[in-house]
Amino acid sequence: MRKTTTRSIQERLKQGIVLGAEGYVFELERRGYIKAGPYVPEVVLDFPEAVKELHREFLRAGSEVMVALTYYAHREKLKDVGREHDLEWMNRQAVRLANEVAREGDALVAGNICNTWAYDPQNVQETSSIVRAMYEEQLSWAVEEGIDFVIAETNDYLGEALIALEVIKQLQLPAMITLATVQQESTRDGYDYVEACKILADHGADIVGLNCDRGPETMLPIIEAIRSAVGCYVAAQPVPYKTNPLAPTFESLRTRNDEQAFPIMLEPFLCTRFEMAAFARQAHSLGVNYIGVCCGGAPHYVRAMAEALGRTVPASKYSPAMELHPMLGSQVSDKDTHFLTDWKS
Ligand SMILES: [Zn+2]
Repeated sequence: MRKTTTRSIQERLKQGIVLGAEGYVFELERRGYIKAGPYVPEVVLDFPEAVKELHREFLRAGSEVMVALTYYAHREKLKDVGREHDLEWMNRQAVRLANEVAREGDALVAGNICNTWAYDPQNVQETSSIVRAMYEEQLSWAVEEGIDFVIAETNDYLGEALIALEVIKQLQLPAMITLATVQQESTRDGYDYVEACKILADHGADIVGLNCDRGPETMLPIIEAIRSAVGCYVAAQPVPYKTNPLAPTFESLRTRNDEQAFPIMLEPFLCTRFEMAAFARQAHSLGVNYIGVCCGGAPHYVRAMAEALGRTVPASKYSPAMELHPMLGSQVSDKDTHFLTDWKS
């Protein structure tokens, strides 16, 4: 059943920041409902209540957007786990679950598509039609179930992102297109991230920006450059991990034993809630319009970000009151909140 929202994504962006929340796949993997490796959201069919619970926790924490859990719910990935026959059912169900919870608050529902692993810049013509067909089928089901806009994310290739944009625009929906930033400066098809966002904006994307891969410290400098280059809305959804100039992405973080921490040994690098609150303030001051979190995200981060933006959300009822702690009392400082002040240097 289609949810009727009171305010569209464009109306909300016009009035101020839209707070989003993602990281569903990582969080549901941690909770035991998704298999790390393939990362296919089988939970949508196998444990729908678990998906709804996480939507609800993000909603209570202040997220204004329920993102349908259709990340990797596409033909290529479902083939890998032998559930290709569940493709349509999984996609429809994901949008229904997002709608059910969105109705409990005043949230928007976003359809979600992502990199397909089918796009090949060496064979653009043939692979583009495969990618297009995958996006068309996923989004046609999503539209039938009811979505307010589409987030096309973790785009490694500008070419693939442009196909997503075209399909979304054919459906006459607002498009938020965000790039993955695994490489140092440019997409896998060789476009500087800033230039790629500019091209997406010129082709009619309503919101452009970055999601995933980078933590606040290494995402913000690129976001700042994107903000100055485009006239449309800008989105930033980093991972809540302490990436740094030497290890700018969470894929490049190494443990003490020099092992790759990504994707299931990342805990030592997690940001605190104060650091994510500081990110929200910093993004706000840069003029970012859609602020959120990606893989590694969890409700306590979202609440801290919402409160940093001056909001009181349902979960604020249980926000920390350390002055009431019998031992710590007023000794707790907010020193962590200032870690981002030097990120430009
Ligand atoms: Zn992510």
